[in-house]
Amino acid sequence: MEKRLIVKIDEEKCTGCGKCVSPCAEGAIKIINGKAKVVSEELCDGMGYCIGICPEGAISIEERHTVAFNKEKAEAQPKKPDLAIHCFKCGAGEDTHYLIPIRHKMESLWVCTRCIPTLIHG
Ligand code: SF4
Ligand SMILES: [Zn+2]
Repeated sequence: MEKRLIVKIDEEKCTGCGKCVSPCAEGAIKIINGKAKVVSEELCDGMGYCIGICPEGAISIEERHTVAFNKEKAEAQPKKPDLAIHCFKCGAGEDTHYLIPIRHKMESLWVCTRCIPTLIHG
């Protein structure tokens, strides 16, 4: 056990939409009985990449005692592309483009690096 940052999911707010599952490259989050759960704390690196994805604001980061992050095990998790993730402007998928999570008008969206300049410069 060690004290470190780890993701916390508020079950009251979570709707079980599943949007946080694929963005977690380490495979630490799964939907169980309609709620997102950190199924294996050793797979959560506490980077909080999933926070911006959640449309309900159900995910936060807390510092507490837990098992150490297991990098080898996290890297060994099966990786598969998620076809539900694509650029909201041009529709490009993660198989061909770099996608970045953004927030706009209280919505969680993905945008590709090609479309970002048009968001910045209008
Ligand atoms: S994105 Fe948020 S609301 Fe959706 S399953 Fe994950 S924690 Fe729950
Ligand atoms: Zn795009």
